[in-house]
Amino acid sequence: MEKKSCYVCGKEALSKNEIGLTKKLLDKNSKRFYCLDCLAEYLEVDTEFLLAKVEEFKEQGCKQF
Ligand SMILES: [Zn+2]
Repeated sequence: MEKKSCYVCGKEALSKNEIGLTKKLLDKNSKRFYCLDCLAEYLEVDTEFLLAKVEEFKEQGCKQF
C-alpha cells in the first residue's frame, strides 16, 4: 500500500488506524490524511476518543482496520 503522510504536520508512514479513521470520520475518498494527533485537533476531540472509535470499528468488522 502507498505510504501516506499527515496533511497537517507531515508525519510520514501513517498507520492503518490513522488512515482508516480519516476515511471513516471525514471522507472515504479523502486525499488528505491526518495522524492521530492532528485528527483529534481537527475534530476537537481527544486521541482517546479516536482510539475508542478504532476499537468500535474493529468490532463492527470494518476492513479498514
Ligand atoms: Zn499530523
